[in-house]
Amino acid sequence: MADCVRETVRQMTAYVPGETPANAGAVKLNQNESPYPPSPRVAQAVREAAGNLSRYPDSPASSLRAAAARLYGLAPDQVMATNGSDEFLRILYQASAGENEEVAAFYPSYTYYRTLAAIQGAKYRLIDFTDDYNLPASLDLSRTRLALLPNPNAPSGTLFGAGDIVRLCREAKNGLVCVDEAYADYAGASVLGLLAGPDAPPNLVVTRTFSKSYGLAGLRVGLGFASAGLMAQLDKVRDYYNVDRLAQAAALAALEDQEYMAGTTARVVATRDRAVAELTGRGVFVWPTRANFILVRLANAAEAKGAYEWLRRKEVFVRYFNAPRLADHLRITVGTDREMGRFLDEFDAWRGRTRTIQSVPPG
Ligand code: PMP
Repeated sequence: MADCVRETVRQMTAYVPGETPANAGAVKLNQNESPYPPSPRVAQAVREAAGNLSRYPDSPASSLRAAAARLYGLAPDQVMATNGSDEFLRILYQASAGENEEVAAFYPSYTYYRTLAAIQGAKYRLIDFTDDYNLPASLDLSRTRLALLPNPNAPSGTLFGAGDIVRLCREAKNGLVCVDEAYADYAGASVLGLLAGPDAPPNLVVTRTFSKSYGLAGLRVGLGFASAGLMAQLDKVRDYYNVDRLAQAAALAALEDQEYMAGTTARVVATRDRAVAELTGRGVFVWPTRANFILVRLANAAEAKGAYEWLRRKEVFVRYFNAPRLADHLRITVGTDREMGRFLDEFDAWRGRTRTIQSVPPG
């Protein structure tokens, strides 16, 4: 029956997320999750919501959207709650890009954009970032139905300014521009403010997630933002009970505890900056990151793969991408100070070992 499956699906390769180690004691630095639990208010809110599970959730997630709108100075009808921000991305594809229409993303960035384009049967166009992770001088986006840019970018962690986003919105004038702010809380920078004013770019959409800075990756909640008129169209594509009761209650409690989120985010940023200093002190090149992960460049692909495998054997899980521009890199999620200490210890052990091997005279 496989030939009953659409050609575009048969041809595509599945997205492979970072692995979940079998051993709960492993150091897990491979999926950009928070090393800290969510606000203690979340458990209380989930317990209360669990008392009402025989009833469907509120379809528009009104309380959560109202709270998000208040927080960001927008109107509730500019906000959508989704089953992880990945669902908002899928809604954008389904709403904007028909078969063989162009979806544009930059390289290297979030590889799930390619998966969604393949499912949709859209034409996927990758535009290379410059060598230092900036937008190229010339961009022809006039045929693009949807352009996507993580900000900060993943996996580099580098941040674009609002000027770059406004430029993209101008150039992709016949399509939507999605700024994927999954990691924006770590950068302390956002283009959500652009959606508040009278001069808001009409094609700008922004997405946020509870999976990173709010420590709720296990629950799957994201938010999408756009003009009210555009959001009314996008909302037609949403599954009407897309965010369950427990997730709505948890996300609302987490959003309303900004102080807690700011505290855990600041701890991650401080740990990140210490880890970056440690690595650069060892002569390792690190891209200037504003996110909760670090992209480091090693001497070559064999070294990067060797380091990844060494770390994995030592139960330290980081991410290795066997792909152009990334094959000589490792991406390391920022964990706690203790976890980063474990990573650095094992990294040093690996370096000592590779040095020893390299210093053995040939023959
Ligand atoms: N965007 C980017 C850039 C990401 O790295 C991720 C995490 N894999 C997501 C979106 C998806 O996040 P969520 O858990 O909200 O679906």
